[in-house]
Amino acid sequence: MSFANGRHYLAIPGPSVIPDPVLQAMQRPAPNIYTGELVELTHGLVPDLKTIAGTQQHVGMYISNGHGLWEAALTNILSRGDKILVCLTGEFGVGWADVATQLGAQVQTLDFGKKSPIDPAQVEQALRADTGHDIKAVLVTHVDTATSLRNDIDGVRKAIDAAGHPALYAVDCVASMGCERFEMDAWGVDVAIAASQKGLMTPAGMGFIWVSDKALEVGQSANMRTPYWDWNLRTNPVHLYEFFGGTPPTQHLYGLRKAVDMMLEEGLDNIFARHAALAGAYWAAADVWAQGGDLVLNVPDAQHRSHAVTALKLNEPDGTRLRDWLTEHMGITLGIPLGMAPWDTDEWHGYFRIGHMGYFNAQMVLGVIGAIETAFIALDIPHGAGGARAAAKFLASKSGQTLAPTDASACCSD
Ligand SMILES: *Cc1c(COP(=O)(O)O)cnc(C)c1O
Repeated sequence: MSFANGRHYLAIPGPSVIPDPVLQAMQRPAPNIYTGELVELTHGLVPDLKTIAGTQQHVGMYISNGHGLWEAALTNILSRGDKILVCLTGEFGVGWADVATQLGAQVQTLDFGKKSPIDPAQVEQALRADTGHDIKAVLVTHVDTATSLRNDIDGVRKAIDAAGHPALYAVDCVASMGCERFEMDAWGVDVAIAASQKGLMTPAGMGFIWVSDKALEVGQSANMRTPYWDWNLRTNPVHLYEFFGGTPPTQHLYGLRKAVDMMLEEGLDNIFARHAALAGAYWAAADVWAQGGDLVLNVPDAQHRSHAVTALKLNEPDGTRLRDWLTEHMGITLGIPLGMAPWDTDEWHGYFRIGHMGYFNAQMVLGVIGAIETAFIALDIPHGAGGARAAAKFLASKSGQTLAPTDASACCSD
Protein backbone atom coordinates (compact mmCIF):
# COMPACT_ATOMS: atom_id res chain seq x y z
CA MET A 1 0.00 0.00 0.00
CA SER A 2 1.11 3.53 -0.68
CA PHE A 3 0.92 6.44 1.73
CA ALA A 4 2.07 8.91 -0.88
CA ASN A 5 -1.16 10.75 -1.57
CA GLY A 6 -0.99 14.33 -0.35
CA ARG A 7 1.60 17.01 -1.08
CA HIS A 8 4.67 15.46 -2.67
CA TYR A 9 8.01 16.58 -1.25
CA LEU A 10 10.80 16.98 -3.79
CA ALA A 11 13.74 16.80 -1.38
CA ILE A 12 16.42 17.13 -4.06
CA PRO A 13 19.17 19.76 -4.38
CA GLY A 14 17.29 21.85 -6.91
CA PRO A 15 14.76 22.60 -8.05
CA SER A 16 13.78 23.23 -4.45
CA VAL A 17 10.33 23.64 -2.94
CA ILE A 18 8.55 26.75 -4.23
CA PRO A 19 6.68 28.60 -1.47
CA ASP A 20 2.94 29.08 -2.07
CA PRO A 21 3.27 32.88 -1.83
CA VAL A 22 5.85 32.75 -4.64
CA LEU A 23 3.54 30.64 -6.81
CA GLN A 24 0.67 32.99 -6.06
CA ALA A 25 2.74 36.05 -6.92
CA MET A 26 3.41 34.55 -10.37
CA GLN A 27 -0.25 33.79 -11.03
CA ARG A 28 -1.24 36.92 -12.95
CA PRO A 29 -1.93 38.11 -16.47
CA ALA A 30 0.91 39.43 -18.62
CA PRO A 31 2.07 42.65 -16.97
CA ASN A 32 2.93 45.92 -18.71
CA ILE A 33 6.61 45.79 -19.62
CA TYR A 34 6.90 49.46 -20.64
CA THR A 35 6.01 51.27 -17.49
CA GLY A 36 4.70 50.84 -13.99
CA GLU A 37 4.94 48.11 -11.38
CA LEU A 38 7.13 45.55 -13.15
CA VAL A 39 9.72 48.17 -14.10
CA GLU A 40 9.99 49.40 -10.53
CA LEU A 41 9.95 45.88 -9.15
CA THR A 42 12.88 44.86 -11.35
CA HIS A 43 15.00 47.87 -10.42
CA GLY A 44 14.12 47.18 -6.80
CA LEU A 45 15.58 43.68 -6.94
CA VAL A 46 19.09 44.99 -7.63
CA PRO A 47 20.00 46.20 -4.12
CA ASP A 48 18.38 43.17 -2.49
CA LEU A 49 20.25 40.70 -4.69
CA LYS A 50 23.47 42.47 -3.72
CA THR A 51 22.57 42.15 -0.05
CA ILE A 52 22.03 38.40 -0.43
CA ALA A 53 25.52 37.98 -1.92
CA GLY A 54 27.21 40.35 0.54
CA THR A 55 28.31 42.87 -2.05
CA GLN A 56 27.97 46.54 -2.87
CA GLN A 57 29.43 46.10 -6.35
CA HIS A 58 27.43 44.89 -9.39
CA VAL A 59 24.74 42.35 -10.20
CA GLY A 60 23.24 41.18 -13.49
CA MET A 61 20.28 38.92 -14.26
CA TYR A 62 19.69 36.48 -17.10
CA ILE A 63 16.92 34.28 -18.40
CA SER A 64 18.91 31.10 -17.88
CA ASN A 65 19.66 28.17 -15.64
CA GLY A 66 22.96 27.70 -13.84
CA HIS A 67 24.68 26.16 -16.87
CA GLY A 68 24.12 29.41 -18.74
CA LEU A 69 25.67 31.36 -15.90
CA TRP A 70 28.82 29.24 -16.14
CA GLU A 71 29.11 30.54 -19.68
CA ALA A 72 28.23 34.10 -18.69
CA ALA A 73 30.99 34.15 -16.07
CA LEU A 74 33.65 32.84 -18.44
CA THR A 75 32.83 34.75 -21.63
CA ASN A 76 32.90 38.09 -19.82
CA ILE A 77 36.38 37.65 -18.36
CA LEU A 78 38.36 35.45 -20.77
CA SER A 79 39.83 35.53 -24.23
CA ARG A 80 40.38 32.39 -26.29
CA GLY A 81 43.61 30.69 -25.24
CA ASP A 82 43.62 32.24 -21.77
CA LYS A 83 44.78 29.95 -19.01
CA ILE A 84 42.60 29.32 -15.94
CA LEU A 85 42.95 27.27 -12.77
CA VAL A 86 39.88 25.22 -11.80
CA CYS A 87 39.63 23.61 -8.35
CA LEU A 88 37.62 20.38 -8.43
CA THR A 89 35.66 18.87 -5.55
CA GLY A 90 33.00 17.05 -7.55
CA GLU A 91 31.01 16.89 -10.74
CA PHE A 92 29.91 20.54 -10.81
CA GLY A 93 33.48 21.80 -10.88
CA VAL A 94 34.17 19.31 -13.67
CA GLY A 95 31.17 20.68 -15.58
CA TRP A 96 32.36 24.27 -15.33
CA ALA A 97 35.87 23.27 -16.42
CA ASP A 98 34.38 21.47 -19.45
CA VAL A 99 32.50 24.58 -20.50
CA ALA A 100 35.72 26.60 -20.23
CA THR A 101 37.59 24.09 -22.38
CA GLN A 102 34.84 24.14 -25.01
CA LEU A 103 34.93 27.94 -25.06
CA GLY A 104 38.65 27.82 -25.87
CA ALA A 105 40.29 28.37 -22.50
CA GLN A 106 43.40 26.46 -21.48
CA VAL A 107 42.29 24.67 -18.33
CA GLN A 108 44.61 23.62 -15.52
CA THR A 109 42.87 21.64 -12.79
CA LEU A 110 43.60 20.91 -9.15
CA ASP A 111 41.54 17.87 -8.16
CA PHE A 112 40.84 17.44 -4.45
CA GLY A 113 38.77 14.29 -4.90
CA LYS A 114 35.23 13.71 -3.72
CA LYS A 115 35.61 13.68 0.06
CA SER A 116 37.80 16.59 1.03
CA PRO A 117 37.57 20.30 0.29
CA ILE A 118 40.00 22.54 -1.53
CA ASP A 119 43.32 22.88 0.24
CA PRO A 120 44.18 26.58 -0.10
CA ALA A 121 47.88 25.81 0.33
CA GLN A 122 47.85 23.85 -2.92
CA VAL A 123 46.13 26.74 -4.69
CA GLU A 124 48.81 29.08 -3.39
CA GLN A 125 51.51 26.71 -4.61
CA ALA A 126 49.99 26.44 -8.09
CA LEU A 127 49.73 30.22 -8.36
CA ARG A 128 53.28 30.78 -7.12
CA ALA A 129 54.48 28.40 -9.82
CA ASP A 130 52.78 30.62 -12.41
CA THR A 131 55.56 33.21 -12.33
CA GLY A 132 54.49 34.77 -15.64
CA HIS A 133 50.96 35.33 -14.32
CA ASP A 134 49.45 33.46 -17.25
CA ILE A 135 46.52 32.25 -15.14
CA LYS A 136 43.73 34.74 -15.68
CA ALA A 137 41.14 33.28 -13.32
CA VAL A 138 40.75 30.84 -10.45
CA LEU A 139 37.43 28.94 -10.49
CA VAL A 140 35.94 27.43 -7.35
CA THR A 141 32.61 25.78 -6.55
CA HIS A 142 31.36 27.01 -3.17
CA VAL A 143 29.21 23.93 -2.58
CA ASP A 144 29.67 21.06 -4.99
CA THR A 145 26.16 19.68 -5.17
CA ALA A 146 27.37 16.25 -6.30
CA THR A 147 29.65 15.49 -3.34
CA SER A 148 28.05 17.97 -0.88
CA LEU A 149 31.47 19.39 -0.08
CA ARG A 150 31.60 23.05 0.96
CA ASN A 151 34.77 24.94 0.15
CA ASP A 152 36.46 27.71 2.14
CA ILE A 153 35.97 30.71 -0.13
CA ASP A 154 37.76 33.12 2.19
CA GLY A 155 40.66 30.67 2.52
CA VAL A 156 41.18 30.45 -1.23
CA ARG A 157 41.14 34.26 -1.47
CA LYS A 158 43.89 34.40 1.15
CA ALA A 159 45.88 31.84 -0.85
CA ILE A 160 45.58 33.97 -4.01
CA ASP A 161 46.74 37.00 -2.05
CA ALA A 162 49.59 35.10 -0.39
CA ALA A 163 50.85 34.14 -3.84
CA GLY A 164 50.59 37.80 -4.88
CA HIS A 165 48.68 36.66 -7.97
CA PRO A 166 46.43 39.01 -9.95
CA ALA A 167 44.02 36.34 -11.30
CA LEU A 168 40.30 36.99 -11.02
CA TYR A 169 38.46 34.84 -8.49
CA ALA A 170 35.20 33.28 -9.73
CA VAL A 171 32.87 31.22 -7.54
CA ASP A 172 29.91 29.01 -8.43
CA CYS A 173 27.31 29.67 -5.73
CA VAL A 174 24.39 27.98 -7.48
CA ALA A 175 23.83 25.51 -4.63
CA SER A 176 24.82 27.80 -1.77
CA MET A 177 23.39 31.26 -2.47
CA GLY A 178 20.68 31.98 0.06
CA CYS A 179 21.51 28.81 2.03
CA GLU A 180 25.05 29.29 3.30
CA ARG A 181 26.93 32.39 4.33
CA PHE A 182 28.58 34.02 1.35
CA GLU A 183 30.37 37.36 1.64
CA MET A 184 31.43 38.42 -1.82
CA ASP A 185 33.13 41.68 -0.83
CA ALA A 186 34.63 40.54 2.47
CA TRP A 187 36.00 37.41 0.81
CA GLY A 188 37.36 39.23 -2.24
CA VAL A 189 35.35 37.35 -4.84
CA ASP A 190 35.33 38.89 -8.32
CA VAL A 191 32.57 36.88 -9.98
CA ALA A 192 29.80 34.87 -8.29
CA ILE A 193 26.92 33.07 -9.98
CA ALA A 194 23.59 31.62 -8.83
CA ALA A 195 20.29 30.39 -10.27
CA SER A 196 16.70 30.94 -9.17
CA GLN A 197 15.62 27.39 -8.36
CA LYS A 198 17.76 26.55 -5.33
CA GLY A 199 18.16 28.77 -2.26
CA LEU A 200 16.24 31.54 -4.02
CA MET A 201 13.04 29.42 -3.99
CA THR A 202 11.81 30.47 -7.44
CA PRO A 203 11.16 28.21 -10.46
CA ALA A 204 14.15 27.44 -12.67
CA GLY A 205 14.66 30.00 -15.41
CA MET A 206 16.60 32.93 -13.96
CA GLY A 207 20.33 33.20 -13.32
CA PHE A 208 22.37 35.84 -11.53
CA ILE A 209 25.90 37.13 -11.73
CA TRP A 210 27.63 39.33 -9.19
CA VAL A 211 30.66 41.22 -10.50
CA SER A 212 33.45 43.17 -8.82
CA ASP A 213 34.74 46.50 -10.10
CA LYS A 214 37.99 44.73 -10.94
CA ALA A 215 36.28 42.01 -12.99
CA LEU A 216 34.22 44.60 -14.84
CA GLU A 217 37.41 46.46 -15.77
CA VAL A 218 39.68 43.48 -16.53
CA GLY A 219 36.86 41.86 -18.51
CA GLN A 220 36.60 44.68 -21.03
CA SER A 221 39.25 43.06 -23.20
CA ALA A 222 37.67 39.57 -23.07
CA ASN A 223 37.21 38.29 -26.61
CA MET A 224 35.00 35.35 -25.64
CA ARG A 225 32.24 37.88 -24.97
CA THR A 226 29.03 37.40 -26.98
CA PRO A 227 26.07 39.79 -27.23
CA TYR A 228 23.57 37.79 -25.17
CA TRP A 229 25.88 37.03 -22.26
CA ASP A 230 27.62 40.43 -22.23
CA TRP A 231 27.29 41.70 -18.69
CA ASN A 232 28.00 45.38 -19.39
CA LEU A 233 24.43 46.46 -20.04
CA ARG A 234 22.92 43.96 -17.64
CA THR A 235 24.88 45.32 -14.70
CA ASN A 236 24.07 48.89 -15.70
CA PRO A 237 20.60 48.92 -17.26
CA VAL A 238 18.37 51.94 -17.63
CA HIS A 239 15.41 50.43 -19.49
CA LEU A 240 13.69 47.20 -18.54
CA TYR A 241 14.68 45.39 -21.77
CA GLU A 242 18.33 46.10 -21.00
CA PHE A 243 18.19 43.98 -17.85
CA PHE A 244 17.52 40.86 -19.90
CA GLY A 245 18.75 41.64 -23.40
CA GLY A 246 15.12 41.44 -24.55
CA THR A 247 11.77 40.48 -23.06
CA PRO A 248 11.96 40.18 -19.27
CA PRO A 249 10.90 36.97 -17.51
CA THR A 250 7.70 38.66 -16.37
CA GLN A 251 6.08 36.14 -14.02
CA HIS A 252 9.43 34.98 -12.68
CA LEU A 253 10.21 38.51 -11.57
CA TYR A 254 7.05 38.65 -9.47
CA GLY A 255 7.91 35.28 -7.97
CA LEU A 256 11.49 36.29 -7.26
CA ARG A 257 10.35 39.54 -5.65
CA LYS A 258 8.16 37.58 -3.25
CA ALA A 259 10.92 35.04 -2.53
CA VAL A 260 13.43 37.79 -1.79
CA ASP A 261 10.90 39.53 0.46
CA MET A 262 10.46 36.29 2.38
CA MET A 263 14.23 35.92 2.70
CA LEU A 264 14.79 39.43 3.96
CA GLU A 265 11.92 39.05 6.39
CA GLU A 266 13.42 35.89 7.87
CA GLY A 267 16.85 37.51 7.86
CA LEU A 268 19.96 36.07 6.22
CA ASP A 269 21.56 35.10 9.53
CA ASN A 270 18.43 33.19 10.51
CA ILE A 271 18.29 31.49 7.12
CA PHE A 272 21.89 30.33 7.42
CA ALA A 273 21.32 29.12 10.99
CA ARG A 274 18.14 27.25 9.98
CA HIS A 275 19.96 25.47 7.17
CA ALA A 276 22.84 24.59 9.48
CA ALA A 277 20.64 23.22 12.24
CA LEU A 278 18.39 21.20 9.93
CA ALA A 279 21.39 19.79 8.08
CA GLY A 280 22.70 18.78 11.49
CA ALA A 281 19.48 16.86 12.15
CA TYR A 282 20.03 14.81 9.00
CA TRP A 283 23.63 14.09 9.98
CA ALA A 284 22.60 13.09 13.52
CA ALA A 285 20.16 10.55 12.06
CA ALA A 286 22.68 9.32 9.49
CA ASP A 287 25.36 8.82 12.14
CA VAL A 288 23.05 6.48 14.03
CA TRP A 289 21.91 4.63 10.91
CA ALA A 290 25.58 4.16 9.94
CA GLN A 291 26.37 2.49 13.26
CA GLY A 292 24.27 -0.55 12.43
CA GLY A 293 24.53 -0.71 8.67
CA ASP A 294 26.40 0.30 5.57
CA LEU A 295 25.28 3.89 5.27
CA VAL A 296 28.09 6.38 4.61
CA LEU A 297 27.92 10.16 4.74
CA ASN A 298 30.04 11.12 1.76
CA VAL A 299 31.94 13.93 3.50
CA PRO A 300 33.52 12.50 6.65
CA ASP A 301 34.30 15.83 8.31
CA ALA A 302 31.11 17.72 9.25
CA GLN A 303 32.95 21.04 9.03
CA HIS A 304 33.31 20.58 5.30
CA ARG A 305 29.73 19.51 4.63
CA SER A 306 27.26 21.74 2.87
CA HIS A 307 24.16 22.84 4.78
CA ALA A 308 22.08 22.70 1.60
CA VAL A 309 22.68 19.16 0.35
CA THR A 310 23.94 15.89 1.79
CA ALA A 311 25.41 13.09 -0.34
CA LEU A 312 25.15 9.56 1.05
CA LYS A 313 25.84 5.99 0.06
CA LEU A 314 24.39 2.57 0.81
CA ASN A 315 25.42 -0.78 -0.59
CA GLU A 316 24.25 -0.95 -4.20
CA PRO A 317 21.49 -1.14 -5.26
CA ASP A 318 19.97 0.08 -1.99
CA GLY A 319 20.34 3.77 -2.84
CA THR A 320 18.08 3.35 -5.85
CA ARG A 321 15.73 0.98 -4.00
CA LEU A 322 15.41 3.56 -1.22
CA ARG A 323 14.68 6.44 -3.61
CA ASP A 324 12.14 4.46 -5.63
CA TRP A 325 10.35 3.21 -2.54
CA LEU A 326 10.16 6.68 -0.98
CA THR A 327 8.62 8.14 -4.12
CA GLU A 328 6.09 5.37 -4.46
CA HIS A 329 5.12 4.83 -0.85
CA MET A 330 5.98 7.98 1.10
CA GLY A 331 5.50 10.87 -1.35
CA ILE A 332 9.14 11.96 -1.06
CA THR A 333 11.70 12.14 -3.85
CA LEU A 334 15.40 12.21 -2.98
CA GLY A 335 18.21 13.22 -5.34
CA ILE A 336 19.98 10.89 -7.72
CA PRO A 337 23.77 10.63 -7.55
CA LEU A 338 25.87 12.79 -9.87
CA GLY A 339 29.43 11.92 -10.79
CA MET A 340 30.01 9.51 -7.90
CA ALA A 341 30.08 6.52 -10.25
CA PRO A 342 29.28 6.10 -13.96
CA TRP A 343 25.47 6.07 -14.29
CA ASP A 344 25.41 2.75 -16.16
CA THR A 345 27.30 0.81 -13.48
CA ASP A 346 25.93 -1.14 -10.51
CA GLU A 347 27.88 1.11 -8.19
CA TRP A 348 25.78 4.13 -9.22
CA HIS A 349 22.80 2.54 -7.48
CA GLY A 350 24.41 2.84 -4.06
CA TYR A 351 24.54 6.64 -3.97
CA PHE A 352 21.80 9.18 -3.30
CA ARG A 353 21.46 12.77 -2.11
CA ILE A 354 19.10 14.74 0.09
CA GLY A 355 18.39 18.36 -0.79
CA HIS A 356 17.76 20.71 2.13
CA MET A 357 17.78 24.14 0.59
CA GLY A 358 15.47 27.12 0.62
CA TYR A 359 11.89 26.71 1.77
CA PHE A 360 11.96 23.83 4.23
CA ASN A 361 11.60 23.37 7.94
CA ALA A 362 11.85 20.89 10.79
CA GLN A 363 8.64 19.00 10.09
CA MET A 364 9.78 18.38 6.51
CA VAL A 365 13.19 17.16 7.65
CA LEU A 366 11.75 14.94 10.36
CA GLY A 367 9.25 13.62 7.81
CA VAL A 368 12.05 12.64 5.45
CA ILE A 369 14.07 11.08 8.27
CA GLY A 370 11.06 9.08 9.48
CA ALA A 371 10.26 8.03 5.94
CA ILE A 372 13.82 6.88 5.30
CA GLU A 373 13.72 4.85 8.50
CA THR A 374 10.41 3.33 7.37
CA ALA A 375 12.00 2.44 4.03
CA PHE A 376 14.98 0.81 5.75
CA ILE A 377 12.60 -1.43 7.68
CA ALA A 378 10.31 -2.18 4.73
CA LEU A 379 13.21 -2.93 2.38
CA ASP A 380 15.23 -4.80 4.98
CA ILE A 381 18.21 -2.45 4.64
CA PRO A 382 20.54 -2.89 7.63
CA HIS A 383 20.75 0.25 9.76
CA GLY A 384 21.29 1.39 13.30
CA ALA A 385 17.98 1.93 15.09
CA GLY A 386 17.11 5.34 16.49
CA GLY A 387 18.04 7.76 13.72
CA ALA A 388 14.79 9.68 14.06
CA ARG A 389 15.29 9.84 17.82
CA ALA A 390 18.81 11.23 17.35
CA ALA A 391 17.53 13.90 14.96
CA ALA A 392 14.79 14.82 17.43
CA LYS A 393 17.29 15.11 20.26
CA PHE A 394 19.57 17.21 18.12
CA LEU A 395 16.82 19.64 17.18
CA ALA A 396 15.52 19.75 20.75
CA SER A 397 18.99 20.72 21.91
CA LYS A 398 19.08 23.55 19.37
CA SER A 399 15.56 24.79 19.92
CA GLY A 400 16.38 26.70 23.10
CA GLN A 401 19.21 28.57 21.46
CA THR A 402 19.02 31.96 19.93
CA LEU A 403 19.95 31.16 16.38
CA ALA A 404 23.01 33.31 16.12
CA PRO A 405 24.75 33.77 12.80
CA THR A 406 26.88 30.73 12.48
CA ASP A 407 29.68 29.48 10.59
CA ALA A 408 27.53 26.45 11.14
CA SER A 409 30.41 24.07 11.56
CA ALA A 410 30.28 25.46 15.09
CA CYS A 411 26.57 24.74 15.21
CA CYS A 412 26.52 21.19 13.97
CA SER A 413 29.85 19.55 14.07
CA ASP A 414 29.08 17.53 17.19
C1 LIG B 1 22.50 23.18 -9.87
C2 LIG B 1 23.91 23.59 -10.03
C3 LIG B 1 24.43 24.04 -11.26
C4 LIG B 1 23.67 23.96 -12.53
O1 LIG B 1 22.49 24.67 -12.50
P1 LIG B 1 21.33 24.34 -13.57
O2 LIG B 1 20.33 25.38 -13.22
O3 LIG B 1 20.90 22.94 -13.30
O4 LIG B 1 21.90 24.52 -14.91
C5 LIG B 1 25.73 24.49 -11.29
N1 LIG B 1 26.50 24.50 -10.21
C6 LIG B 1 26.04 24.07 -9.00
C7 LIG B 1 26.95 24.11 -7.81
C8 LIG B 1 24.74 23.59 -8.89
O5 LIG B 1 24.29 23.16 -7.70
